[in-house]
Amino acid sequence: MCNCNKLNEVVVDLDSSWISQSIPYQGKEAFSSYCEEIEAEEFEPDLNYSEFYYACIDCGQAWYLECAPVEPTFPLFGIKLKNIGQILSKEEIESQKNFIIILAHNGFEPSKCRTANCNNFKLKGKELCHMHLSIP
Ligand SMILES: [Zn+2]
Ligand SMILES: [Zn+2]
Repeated sequence: MCNCNKLNEVVVDLDSSWISQSIPYQGKEAFSSYCEEIEAEEFEPDLNYSEFYYACIDCGQAWYLECAPVEPTFPLFGIKLKNIGQILSKEEIESQKNFIIILAHNGFEPSKCRTANCNNFKLKGKELCHMHLSIP
């Protein structure tokens, strides 16, 4: 059984062994509903690191998925689509990723990112902002 209908519109699998566990994610508990595993196993087409658009075979949910570069692969990051055939722009994907990384880190510190000329705030407990520290 899949868990698609219990998942948020956008999810990242922070518990995956693929994501470095040496980085503590301070927002993982507070925003746990965004940090869940996509449990569906059967997709149309089959999961593939270089493909991004899928439908869950169990429930028909359409997904934009980014998979781990391993064999067999599995989804690390997902955005629910309204219907099969919907294509997201680069900006839509990027804004959802920024949103989820900010949640995963539970927001910002009141000081600026260490990257030269970057005016963003640092993520909580980090030296960098959401543009310069990325997940997956
Ligand atoms: Zn499903
Ligand atoms: Zn930055």
